[in-house]
Amino acid sequence: MKQQQVTALALYSGGLDSILACRVIAAQGVKVKAIRFVTPFFGYELLAKEAAYAAKAKSAFGIDVSLRDISTTFLELLRAPKHGFGKHFNPCLDCKILLVSEVRKLLPAYQASFIITGEVVGQRPMSQRKDTMRVVERDSDCEGILVRPLCARNLLPTRPELDGLIDREKLLGFNGRGRASQRALAKEMQIEGYPTPAGGCVLTDVTQGPRVERYYQEHAAVTVADIWLLLVGRQYRLPGGGRFALGRDSKENDLVLARRAPGDLVLRMTDRPGPVGVLRRPTGDDLAAAAGLVVRYGRKVSPEVPATVAAEGDQGSMTIKALPLADTVFQSWQW
Ligand code: SF4
Repeated sequence: MKQQQVTALALYSGGLDSILACRVIAAQGVKVKAIRFVTPFFGYELLAKEAAYAAKAKSAFGIDVSLRDISTTFLELLRAPKHGFGKHFNPCLDCKILLVSEVRKLLPAYQASFIITGEVVGQRPMSQRKDTMRVVERDSDCEGILVRPLCARNLLPTRPELDGLIDREKLLGFNGRGRASQRALAKEMQIEGYPTPAGGCVLTDVTQGPRVERYYQEHAAVTVADIWLLLVGRQYRLPGGGRFALGRDSKENDLVLARRAPGDLVLRMTDRPGPVGVLRRPTGDDLAAAAGLVVRYGRKVSPEVPATVAAEGDQGSMTIKALPLADTVFQSWQW
């Protein structure tokens, strides 16, 4: 009788460690399905190009990956993470626990026996220490079924190893922050074109992390659309309470525009080059204030001659004449 192929689910970040973890397990004949979770803080832009992203992971790394949007759950988690925050507003330990728990819920659907991650003991100060890695297993209810192929030889054997589903001897014993072992393994496995380790999660960013934290402190309700807009361009809270995001260059103008939601107004000058802004929930004089900001950062504007700003909404558009706002006026609106 033909033995059924063993399947594992991978918590996949797209970085080298998770690529290697998948490949090390796949090299043992296990079918690996990779799951990449996205939120506005990491990977969210991939949702708009999921098919191309999956095709690239398959062709470049031989990995079968699907995206899962867990934004709403993640936004709730940020309100009060049980294990607290890292240096900025990054709840790394709770994040890991959440993501692994979410993968565990998918095991039956894929008829998968265990979970793999690209974690390496000692690589991250908080979430990848031996003790915290055990906390992740315990709090995600994954004791015995969470395999870290890159450092498994430094950890206790897991159930799939004990049951003979995978060969512990072929797992690795990496540890620490160095990347040399990973690079060497990538070379050996002929994995090229993988992303560099920097970046990834905006919650660890020195500007964005505190910005999100402040948003949480000042808003009882936080939505995915509001956070998504908060993370691009210059940010303002206008005197009437409206939110305003303004692009700093043409790339950001496109991003700001792409993050527009129903009900928003898009502002830009009609006859001169300059930024694009998205205005959300304006009240009082917020529209005039936002138009003044658009002109302030516009080009070829005069401090004496008002420029024309178009404000385009769902129902049509209107124009406003505005002078550039003085910096002293809007300093306190900046986020
Ligand atoms: S850096 Fe961001 S994505 Fe990574 S574990 Fe921390 S909170 Fe999660």
